[in-house]
Amino acid sequence: MFELPPLLLALAFILVGLAAWFLGRRNSAARTVRLPRDYYVGLEHLINDRFDHAAEIFARMAEAEGDAAEIQFALGSLFRRRGEVDRAIAIHSRLRDQGGAAVRDKAAFALALDYQSAGLMDRAERVLEELAASREYRHAALDTLVGIYEAQGDWAKALKVFHELPAAVQADRARVAAHYLCELAEHALIQGDSERATTLLRKARTHHPELPRADILTARIEEKAGERGAALVLYLHALETSPGLALEIIPAVLAIARQLPNPEVLHELPRRLRESGRVTPRQLAWLLATAVPPAQVAQLPGVAAELGPEVVSAAEASSLGVLLTRIGDAGGRYQCDECGLNSVGWYWRCPKCRSWDSMCPAVFKWAERADNAVRSS
Ligand SMILES: [Zn+2]
Repeated sequence: MFELPPLLLALAFILVGLAAWFLGRRNSAARTVRLPRDYYVGLEHLINDRFDHAAEIFARMAEAEGDAAEIQFALGSLFRRRGEVDRAIAIHSRLRDQGGAAVRDKAAFALALDYQSAGLMDRAERVLEELAASREYRHAALDTLVGIYEAQGDWAKALKVFHELPAAVQADRARVAAHYLCELAEHALIQGDSERATTLLRKARTHHPELPRADILTARIEEKAGERGAALVLYLHALETSPGLALEIIPAVLAIARQLPNPEVLHELPRRLRESGRVTPRQLAWLLATAVPPAQVAQLPGVAAELGPEVVSAAEASSLGVLLTRIGDAGGRYQCDECGLNSVGWYWRCPKCRSWDSMCPAVFKWAERADNAVRSS
Protein backbone atom coordinates (compact mmCIF):
# COMPACT_ATOMS: atom_id res chain seq x y z
CA MET A 1 0.00 0.00 0.00
CA PHE A 2 1.00 3.58 -0.64
CA GLU A 3 1.60 5.51 2.57
CA LEU A 4 2.30 9.17 2.24
CA PRO A 5 4.20 10.10 5.43
CA PRO A 6 6.93 7.41 5.05
CA LEU A 7 7.23 8.28 1.38
CA LEU A 8 7.68 11.95 2.16
CA LEU A 9 10.26 10.98 4.71
CA ALA A 10 12.03 8.82 2.15
CA LEU A 11 12.00 11.64 -0.37
CA ALA A 12 13.33 14.06 2.19
CA PHE A 13 16.34 11.98 3.06
CA ILE A 14 17.06 11.10 -0.56
CA LEU A 15 17.03 14.81 -1.44
CA VAL A 16 19.31 15.57 1.47
CA GLY A 17 21.55 12.76 0.26
CA LEU A 18 21.62 14.19 -3.24
CA ALA A 19 22.40 17.67 -2.01
CA ALA A 20 25.21 16.31 0.13
CA TRP A 21 26.56 14.38 -2.80
CA PHE A 22 26.53 17.35 -5.18
CA LEU A 23 28.23 19.52 -2.59
CA GLY A 24 30.79 16.78 -2.08
CA ARG A 25 31.37 16.41 -5.82
CA ARG A 26 32.16 20.08 -6.18
CA ASN A 27 35.00 19.61 -3.76
CA SER A 28 36.26 16.30 -5.00
CA ALA A 29 36.83 15.61 -8.66
CA ALA A 30 37.96 12.06 -7.89
CA ARG A 31 34.47 10.73 -7.15
CA THR A 32 32.83 8.37 -9.60
CA VAL A 33 29.64 9.23 -11.48
CA ARG A 34 28.01 5.98 -10.34
CA LEU A 35 26.61 7.49 -7.16
CA PRO A 36 23.94 9.91 -8.47
CA ARG A 37 22.57 7.25 -10.77
CA ASP A 38 22.23 4.91 -7.81
CA TYR A 39 20.40 7.61 -5.90
CA TYR A 40 17.89 7.98 -8.73
CA VAL A 41 17.41 4.25 -9.08
CA GLY A 42 17.02 3.90 -5.31
CA LEU A 43 14.57 6.78 -5.29
CA GLU A 44 12.52 5.15 -8.03
CA HIS A 45 12.38 1.91 -6.06
CA LEU A 46 11.21 3.83 -2.99
CA ILE A 47 8.52 5.69 -4.91
CA ASN A 48 7.24 2.40 -6.29
CA ASP A 49 7.36 0.89 -2.82
CA ARG A 50 10.07 -1.62 -3.72
CA PHE A 51 11.82 -1.17 -0.43
CA ASP A 52 14.00 -4.26 -0.66
CA HIS A 53 15.52 -3.12 -3.97
CA ALA A 54 16.03 0.37 -2.58
CA ALA A 55 17.63 -1.06 0.54
CA GLU A 56 19.97 -3.15 -1.59
CA ILE A 57 21.16 -0.13 -3.57
CA PHE A 58 21.67 2.01 -0.50
CA ALA A 59 23.49 -0.83 1.19
CA ARG A 60 25.85 -1.07 -1.79
CA MET A 61 26.36 2.68 -1.71
CA ALA A 62 27.08 2.57 1.97
CA GLU A 63 29.77 -0.01 1.33
CA ALA A 64 31.38 2.23 -1.29
CA GLU A 65 30.96 5.44 0.69
CA GLY A 66 31.45 5.55 4.43
CA ASP A 67 29.24 8.61 4.89
CA ALA A 68 26.30 6.86 3.23
CA ALA A 69 25.79 4.99 6.52
CA GLU A 70 23.51 7.85 7.56
CA ILE A 71 21.24 7.03 4.65
CA GLN A 72 21.09 3.43 5.79
CA PHE A 73 20.20 4.50 9.30
CA ALA A 74 17.38 6.62 7.90
CA LEU A 75 16.24 3.71 5.78
CA GLY A 76 16.45 1.36 8.76
CA SER A 77 14.27 3.53 10.97
CA LEU A 78 11.89 4.03 8.05
CA PHE A 79 11.47 0.25 7.81
CA ARG A 80 10.97 -0.03 11.57
CA ARG A 81 8.27 2.62 11.52
CA ARG A 82 6.54 0.87 8.64
CA GLY A 83 6.51 -2.27 10.76
CA GLU A 84 8.97 -4.03 8.44
CA VAL A 85 11.21 -4.89 11.33
CA ASP A 86 13.02 -7.77 9.60
CA ARG A 87 14.42 -5.32 7.07
CA ALA A 88 15.40 -2.82 9.73
CA ILE A 89 17.15 -5.63 11.61
CA ALA A 90 19.01 -6.69 8.46
CA ILE A 91 20.25 -3.14 7.79
CA HIS A 92 21.29 -2.40 11.36
CA SER A 93 22.91 -5.83 11.86
CA ARG A 94 25.01 -5.26 8.76
CA LEU A 95 26.00 -1.77 9.92
CA ARG A 96 26.93 -3.09 13.35
CA ASP A 97 28.93 -6.04 12.09
CA GLN A 98 30.57 -4.47 9.05
CA GLY A 99 30.49 -0.73 9.71
CA GLY A 100 33.39 1.23 11.12
CA ALA A 101 33.94 1.90 14.81
CA ALA A 102 32.10 5.23 14.45
CA VAL A 103 28.78 3.64 13.49
CA ARG A 104 28.96 0.36 15.41
CA ASP A 105 27.34 1.55 18.65
CA LYS A 106 24.74 3.64 16.86
CA ALA A 107 23.82 0.58 14.78
CA ALA A 108 23.66 -1.61 17.88
CA PHE A 109 21.28 0.86 19.56
CA ALA A 110 19.07 1.01 16.45
CA LEU A 111 19.12 -2.79 16.36
CA ALA A 112 17.96 -2.95 19.98
CA LEU A 113 15.03 -0.68 19.09
CA ASP A 114 14.22 -2.98 16.15
CA TYR A 115 14.21 -6.03 18.45
CA GLN A 116 12.07 -4.11 20.92
CA SER A 117 9.43 -3.25 18.32
CA ALA A 118 9.54 -6.83 17.03
CA GLY A 119 8.80 -8.03 20.57
CA LEU A 120 12.15 -9.86 20.72
CA MET A 121 12.88 -8.58 24.22
CA ASP A 122 15.61 -11.11 25.08
CA ARG A 123 17.66 -9.97 22.12
CA ALA A 124 16.96 -6.29 22.78
CA GLU A 125 18.10 -6.75 26.39
CA ARG A 126 21.29 -8.51 25.34
CA VAL A 127 22.27 -5.78 22.87
CA LEU A 128 21.44 -3.01 25.36
CA GLU A 129 23.40 -4.68 28.16
CA GLU A 130 26.44 -4.77 25.88
CA LEU A 131 25.86 -1.15 24.92
CA ALA A 132 25.94 -0.11 28.58
CA ALA A 133 29.73 -0.35 28.20
CA SER A 134 29.68 2.25 25.42
CA ARG A 135 30.47 5.78 26.46
CA GLU A 136 28.17 7.50 23.99
CA TYR A 137 25.17 5.15 24.22
CA ARG A 138 25.34 4.07 27.86
CA HIS A 139 22.64 6.44 29.08
CA ALA A 140 20.26 5.77 26.16
CA ALA A 141 20.82 2.00 26.49
CA LEU A 142 20.12 1.97 30.23
CA ASP A 143 17.06 4.18 29.73
CA THR A 144 15.63 1.85 27.11
CA LEU A 145 16.38 -1.17 29.32
CA VAL A 146 14.51 0.40 32.23
CA GLY A 147 11.56 0.98 29.86
CA ILE A 148 11.61 -2.68 28.78
CA TYR A 149 11.69 -3.95 32.37
CA GLU A 150 8.90 -1.55 33.35
CA ALA A 151 6.77 -2.80 30.47
CA GLN A 152 7.43 -6.38 31.56
CA GLY A 153 6.66 -5.56 35.18
CA ASP A 154 10.12 -6.82 36.15
CA TRP A 155 10.54 -4.26 38.93
CA ALA A 156 13.65 -5.81 40.47
CA LYS A 157 15.54 -5.55 37.20
CA ALA A 158 14.13 -2.06 36.49
CA LEU A 159 15.41 -0.95 39.89
CA LYS A 160 18.83 -2.53 39.35
CA VAL A 161 19.30 -0.74 36.01
CA PHE A 162 17.89 2.48 37.49
CA HIS A 163 20.79 2.49 39.96
CA GLU A 164 23.25 2.39 37.06
CA LEU A 165 21.86 5.63 35.59
CA PRO A 166 23.78 8.89 36.19
CA ALA A 167 23.27 10.27 39.71
CA ALA A 168 21.47 13.38 38.44
CA VAL A 169 18.96 11.27 36.50
CA GLN A 170 18.38 9.07 39.56
CA ALA A 171 17.73 12.13 41.70
CA ASP A 172 15.34 13.44 39.06
CA ARG A 173 13.37 10.18 38.96
CA ALA A 174 13.53 9.22 42.63
CA ARG A 175 9.75 8.99 42.73
CA VAL A 176 9.75 6.36 39.99
CA ALA A 177 12.31 4.24 41.88
CA ALA A 178 10.06 4.49 44.94
CA HIS A 179 7.19 3.16 42.81
CA TYR A 180 9.32 0.17 41.76
CA LEU A 181 9.87 -0.62 45.44
CA CYS A 182 6.14 -0.24 46.11
CA GLU A 183 5.42 -2.64 43.24
CA LEU A 184 7.81 -5.14 44.86
CA ALA A 185 6.17 -4.54 48.24
CA GLU A 186 2.72 -5.23 46.76
CA HIS A 187 4.06 -8.47 45.36
CA ALA A 188 5.47 -9.42 48.78
CA LEU A 189 2.06 -8.65 50.34
CA ILE A 190 0.31 -10.91 47.85
CA GLN A 191 2.70 -13.66 48.94
CA GLY A 192 1.86 -12.93 52.56
CA ASP A 193 5.33 -11.62 53.42
CA SER A 194 4.51 -8.46 55.41
CA GLU A 195 8.02 -8.26 56.82
CA ARG A 196 9.64 -8.05 53.40
CA ALA A 197 6.95 -5.62 52.26
CA THR A 198 7.70 -3.37 55.24
CA THR A 199 11.44 -3.39 54.46
CA LEU A 200 10.76 -2.53 50.81
CA LEU A 201 8.42 0.31 51.79
CA ARG A 202 11.04 1.71 54.12
CA LYS A 203 13.47 1.70 51.20
CA ALA A 204 10.84 3.36 48.99
CA ARG A 205 10.66 6.21 51.51
CA THR A 206 14.42 6.72 51.35
CA HIS A 207 13.93 7.44 47.64
CA HIS A 208 10.85 9.59 48.10
CA PRO A 209 9.67 10.44 51.62
CA GLU A 210 6.27 11.83 50.56
CA LEU A 211 4.96 8.91 48.56
CA PRO A 212 1.24 8.34 49.29
CA ARG A 213 1.46 4.86 47.81
CA ALA A 214 3.92 3.81 50.54
CA ASP A 215 1.51 5.24 53.16
CA ILE A 216 -1.41 3.30 51.72
CA LEU A 217 0.50 0.01 51.61
CA THR A 218 1.87 0.50 55.12
CA ALA A 219 -1.67 1.32 56.27
CA ARG A 220 -2.86 -2.00 54.83
CA ILE A 221 -0.12 -3.84 56.73
CA GLU A 222 -1.07 -2.03 59.97
CA GLU A 223 -4.74 -2.76 59.40
CA LYS A 224 -3.99 -6.43 58.92
CA ALA A 225 -2.01 -6.42 62.17
CA GLY A 226 -5.04 -4.92 63.96
CA GLU A 227 -3.46 -1.46 64.31
CA ARG A 228 -6.48 0.50 63.07
CA GLY A 229 -5.46 3.81 64.63
CA ALA A 230 -2.04 3.70 62.96
CA ALA A 231 -3.63 2.71 59.65
CA LEU A 232 -6.04 5.65 59.88
CA VAL A 233 -3.20 8.13 60.47
CA LEU A 234 -1.37 6.81 57.40
CA TYR A 235 -4.47 6.89 55.17
CA LEU A 236 -5.25 10.46 56.17
CA HIS A 237 -1.65 11.50 55.57
CA ALA A 238 -1.79 9.97 52.07
CA LEU A 239 -5.04 11.81 51.42
CA GLU A 240 -3.47 15.08 52.47
CA THR A 241 -0.44 14.66 50.21
CA SER A 242 -2.52 13.43 47.30
CA PRO A 243 -6.25 14.35 47.34
CA GLY A 244 -6.61 12.71 43.93
CA LEU A 245 -6.47 9.38 45.74
CA ALA A 246 -9.65 10.18 47.67
CA LEU A 247 -11.81 7.70 45.75
CA GLU A 248 -9.36 4.93 46.71
CA ILE A 249 -8.64 6.03 50.27
CA ILE A 250 -12.00 7.27 51.61
CA PRO A 251 -13.79 3.89 51.42
CA ALA A 252 -10.91 2.32 53.42
CA VAL A 253 -11.01 5.18 55.94
CA LEU A 254 -14.78 4.84 56.41
CA ALA A 255 -14.46 1.09 56.86
CA ILE A 256 -11.94 1.61 59.69
CA ALA A 257 -14.01 4.43 61.21
CA ARG A 258 -16.99 2.09 61.54
CA GLN A 259 -14.89 -0.15 63.79
CA LEU A 260 -13.49 2.60 65.99
CA PRO A 261 -15.18 3.69 69.23
CA ASN A 262 -15.07 7.40 68.40
CA PRO A 263 -15.32 7.79 64.65
CA GLU A 264 -14.88 11.52 64.12
CA VAL A 265 -13.38 10.75 60.75
CA LEU A 266 -16.25 12.11 58.73
CA HIS A 267 -15.42 15.56 60.09
CA GLU A 268 -11.72 14.96 59.67
CA LEU A 269 -11.90 14.20 55.92
CA PRO A 270 -13.02 17.63 54.64
CA ARG A 271 -10.70 19.38 57.08
CA ARG A 272 -7.63 17.42 55.95
CA LEU A 273 -8.47 17.87 52.28
CA ARG A 274 -9.09 21.59 52.71
CA GLU A 275 -5.86 22.09 54.65
CA SER A 276 -3.87 20.27 51.99
CA GLY A 277 -4.31 23.42 49.89
CA ARG A 278 -4.33 21.17 46.84
CA VAL A 279 -8.03 21.37 45.96
CA THR A 280 -10.50 24.14 45.27
CA PRO A 281 -13.69 24.19 47.44
CA ARG A 282 -15.72 22.87 44.50
CA GLN A 283 -13.23 20.07 43.81
CA LEU A 284 -13.33 19.16 47.49
CA ALA A 285 -17.12 19.09 47.57
CA TRP A 286 -17.50 17.10 44.37
CA LEU A 287 -14.79 14.69 45.42
CA LEU A 288 -16.50 13.99 48.73
CA ALA A 289 -19.89 13.77 47.04
CA THR A 290 -18.44 11.01 44.84
CA ALA A 291 -16.30 9.17 47.38
CA VAL A 292 -18.61 9.14 50.39
CA PRO A 293 -21.74 6.92 50.32
CA PRO A 294 -24.90 9.02 49.65
CA ALA A 295 -26.32 8.41 53.13
CA GLN A 296 -23.19 9.87 54.73
CA VAL A 297 -22.69 12.83 52.40
CA ALA A 298 -25.57 14.55 54.21
CA GLN A 299 -23.56 14.35 57.43
CA LEU A 300 -20.50 16.00 55.96
CA PRO A 301 -20.19 19.44 57.53
CA GLY A 302 -19.83 22.33 55.16
CA VAL A 303 -19.85 20.25 52.01
CA ALA A 304 -23.41 21.04 50.98
CA ALA A 305 -22.72 24.77 51.34
CA GLU A 306 -19.70 24.46 49.08
CA LEU A 307 -21.61 22.74 46.35
CA GLY A 308 -22.64 26.21 45.27
CA PRO A 309 -25.71 28.42 45.55
CA GLU A 310 -27.77 26.19 43.24
CA VAL A 311 -27.11 23.02 45.26
CA VAL A 312 -27.43 23.75 48.92
CA SER A 313 -29.43 21.12 50.71
CA ALA A 314 -27.87 17.96 52.04
CA ALA A 315 -30.36 15.95 50.01
CA GLU A 316 -29.24 17.69 46.84
CA ALA A 317 -25.60 17.09 47.76
CA SER A 318 -26.35 13.45 48.16
CA SER A 319 -28.15 13.16 44.84
CA LEU A 320 -25.30 15.06 43.19
CA GLY A 321 -22.95 12.44 44.61
CA VAL A 322 -25.06 9.66 43.11
CA LEU A 323 -25.11 11.49 39.79
CA LEU A 324 -21.35 12.10 39.78
CA THR A 325 -20.65 8.49 40.66
CA ARG A 326 -22.99 7.27 37.94
CA ILE A 327 -21.41 9.52 35.30
CA GLY A 328 -17.99 8.51 36.55
CA ASP A 329 -18.77 4.82 36.33
CA ALA A 330 -20.04 5.21 32.80
CA GLY A 331 -17.29 7.44 31.43
CA GLY A 332 -14.38 6.49 33.68
CA ARG A 333 -13.84 7.60 37.23
CA TYR A 334 -10.29 8.64 36.36
CA GLN A 335 -8.56 10.51 33.63
CA CYS A 336 -4.85 10.65 32.76
CA ASP A 337 -3.42 14.17 32.98
CA GLU A 338 -0.84 13.36 30.32
CA CYS A 339 -2.76 11.55 27.58
CA GLY A 340 -6.42 11.94 28.56
CA LEU A 341 -7.10 8.20 28.91
CA ASN A 342 -10.37 7.51 30.76
CA SER A 343 -10.44 4.55 33.09
CA VAL A 344 -12.82 3.07 35.61
CA GLY A 345 -10.01 1.71 37.79
CA TRP A 346 -7.04 3.40 39.41
CA TYR A 347 -3.52 3.04 38.01
CA TRP A 348 -0.27 4.31 39.51
CA ARG A 349 1.11 4.29 36.02
CA CYS A 350 -1.07 5.12 33.01
CA PRO A 351 -1.45 1.98 30.87
CA LYS A 352 -1.52 4.06 27.71
CA CYS A 353 1.21 6.71 28.01
CA ARG A 354 3.10 4.99 30.87
CA SER A 355 3.35 8.14 32.99
CA TRP A 356 3.54 7.62 36.75
CA ASP A 357 1.06 9.40 39.06
CA SER A 358 -0.80 10.93 36.14
CA MET A 359 -4.31 9.60 36.85
CA CYS A 360 -6.71 11.95 38.54
CA PRO A 361 -10.41 11.75 39.44
CA ALA A 362 -12.65 12.86 36.57
CA VAL A 363 -14.68 15.00 39.02
CA PHE A 364 -11.55 17.12 39.53
CA LYS A 365 -11.68 18.17 35.89
CA TRP A 366 -15.42 18.74 35.90
CA ALA A 367 -15.16 20.88 39.03
CA GLU A 368 -12.29 22.81 37.45
CA ARG A 369 -14.38 23.45 34.33
CA ALA A 370 -17.31 24.59 36.48
CA ASP A 371 -14.98 26.91 38.42
CA ASN A 372 -13.68 28.39 35.16
CA ALA A 373 -17.20 28.83 33.79
CA VAL A 374 -18.23 30.71 36.93
CA ARG A 375 -15.10 32.87 36.72
CA SER A 376 -15.60 33.80 33.06
CA SER A 377 -19.35 34.48 33.32
ZN1 LIG B 1 -1.71 8.55 30.10
